[in-house]
Amino acid sequence: MDISVTKADKLKDHPSDSGLGFGTIFTDHMFNMDYNPEKGWHNARIEPYGNITMSPAMMTLHYGQAIFEGLKAYRTPEGGVQLFRPMDNFRRMNRSAEMLCIPQIDENFVMKALLKLVDMERAWVPSAAGTSLYIRPFIFATDPYIGLKASSTYRFCMILCPVGAYYPEGFNPVKIWVTRDYVRAVRGGVGRAKTAGNYAASLYATELAHKDGYTQVLWLDGVELKYVEEVGSMNIFFKLGDEIVTPELNGSILSGVTRDSVIAMAKSWGMKVSERRIAIDEIFEAHAKGELKEVFGSGTAAVISPVGNIKYHEKVIDIGNGSVGPTASRLFSELMDLQYGKIKDPFGWTVPVTPA
Ligand SMILES: *Cc1c(COP(=O)(O)O)cnc(C)c1O
Repeated sequence: MDISVTKADKLKDHPSDSGLGFGTIFTDHMFNMDYNPEKGWHNARIEPYGNITMSPAMMTLHYGQAIFEGLKAYRTPEGGVQLFRPMDNFRRMNRSAEMLCIPQIDENFVMKALLKLVDMERAWVPSAAGTSLYIRPFIFATDPYIGLKASSTYRFCMILCPVGAYYPEGFNPVKIWVTRDYVRAVRGGVGRAKTAGNYAASLYATELAHKDGYTQVLWLDGVELKYVEEVGSMNIFFKLGDEIVTPELNGSILSGVTRDSVIAMAKSWGMKVSERRIAIDEIFEAHAKGELKEVFGSGTAAVISPVGNIKYHEKVIDIGNGSVGPTASRLFSELMDLQYGKIKDPFGWTVPVTPA
């Protein structure tokens, strides 16, 4: 399939690297392609970024058949642009698609489309420390029909936003809030898919956490309400003594690319890393015994997010006295150095965006 290109008549002014937030500024172009049962995925095109017209009956609006991904393009010290494990995002997108009855995409083709789009928009990749070009691929159902079924038509789209450093005020620990009243995902549900409804379902408890002065919710499993799952849009890690532990992928947890990178990197340093079930009680007991050394989240947006407090059943534990532990710090700086091309990549994770 060829990718047609329609250039924008007028290019936008670029924001300064220092004023970048997250997710409000979009580049000049986007990639689109459509699906129908006769043609499969077709009409692949790069065109000016702009609004989409839709039927009020468009199925996604009613039944939420939508999936997304999130990854970044980074500016290297030499002025080049590179991606981090992009194929892992497209592979995960296909796993999400399967669960939501959305047709599979050709991972190699969308990778080619992404390289072409980012190359066209390379001037939008910011270069100040910690900034990047966030990439949002997504697929949604487009049938104009309000009967309940899987849609027969879809749109695949990729849009790009220059984004600021996640920690403009420094790398500070966040406070997380554990609830037994609400769950994000259940056994047999769609927790492992990056699908729109999972995020809508997490908003209410997150608001309660905010009202209580906490940044994010730490979700427990939806069956026994005992085992730690993940935080907001991050996976979670604990350092117990000398060992790093993280919940195993049990079907209701999202399989983070950053999670996988943290595991591989820590193992490459000779650290012991276990993926297993972790009861929230075990974490509080380890803290009481002085064995809970560090807690941190992992995700594309923040890379590593140290956790300074956990509240559960009116009990609050402090981790690391407000400072960031050595493992979280080292993971944060080495992962960033890899992503930005500041150090050699022994894992084969980075993909250069070469100019056409
Ligand atoms: C996207 C996401 C993550 C992190 O995945 P990365 O690939 O590391 O960005 C973790 N949990 C949830 C629920 C997510 O949506």
